[in-house]
Amino acid sequence: VAAAQANFMRVVVQSESPPSSDGGGGTGVELLCVVRAVLKKIKRRVMVGDRVLIGSIDWVDRRGMIENVFRRSSEVLDPPVANVDHLLVLFSMEQPKPEPFSLTRFLVEAESTGIPLTLALNKTELVDSQAVDAWNSRLREWGYEPVFCSVGAKHGLDTLSSILKDQTTVVVGPSGVGKSSLINVLRSNTHEQRVGEVSMRSGRGKHTTRHVSLLPLSGGGYLADTPGFNQPSLMKVTKQSLQQTFPEIREMLRSNELEKCSFNDCLHLGEQGCIVTADWERYPFYLQLLDEVRIREEFQLRTF
Ligand code: GDP
Ligand code: ZN
Repeated sequence: VAAAQANFMRVVVQSESPPSSDGGGGTGVELLCVVRAVLKKIKRRVMVGDRVLIGSIDWVDRRGMIENVFRRSSEVLDPPVANVDHLLVLFSMEQPKPEPFSLTRFLVEAESTGIPLTLALNKTELVDSQAVDAWNSRLREWGYEPVFCSVGAKHGLDTLSSILKDQTTVVVGPSGVGKSSLINVLRSNTHEQRVGEVSMRSGRGKHTTRHVSLLPLSGGGYLADTPGFNQPSLMKVTKQSLQQTFPEIREMLRSNELEKCSFNDCLHLGEQGCIVTADWERYPFYLQLLDEVRIREEFQLRTF
């Protein structure tokens, strides 16, 4: 499903369909599809990015009906896209400068989806090379291999394109870092732009529905046209899962050939036998986020 548009889904045919007498069919053909009523009845939501089974195809008018939805490998809710296999976390070197705690929140939110991520820093042309080097070493200490780019000065875009190739990517990050600009330059490099560029309104009138569509990339793969994670809510993060979202902790466990700390639910707060040290830059952020998650969990326990 490449785009959702009012009551229709735009679906790009991916499997070889049998040649039809009127010459229709085949991979790449775009069909406008309705969702079979029974799927709605059983509340089986169809999302952009879903792989679906199409029936009742009319190759001439390019219409069809979504009969079933295949199991999703992943699901991002903001923006709603299924089968995302890559997140691009975008920040900028200047206007706004990267703020370490905010960056950490975005990284934790991205890591908590389980989807592989790339961290990129935009607007490099606004700073000197020492600033880039400093952030490069700092982020490597955090466990990331950042990509530096400038959408404005057209620098580093080939590297980004090759990373996005053959994957379905959602760009996430705070406002002002250049997410829309990046999506736009990558979009103008692509040959196909037909997919679902319709902004839609809900039946209720003025209220504009949030829509998302997948832009096909020239090298293969798709890019969601709507950036995500406006405010990382960390709703999927638990006290126990938080540690998994820090590469520094993962690495300490790995280098000790452990999957978990000395005892099973160690939260690395100085427990006896804990192998996670406190001598790394983001340890205070880990503690702060642990507190935040703990407070939310206790609140949820009391409320529900
Ligand atoms: P978004 O909120 O993350 O989608 O950011 P936008 O794409 O709207 O960009 C915010 C501002 O940053 C706009 O004025 C862009 O023109 C500008 N911008 C984007 N990329 C660059 C860049 O590489 N260098 C500079 N100097 N400005 C950029
Ligand atoms: Zn521990």
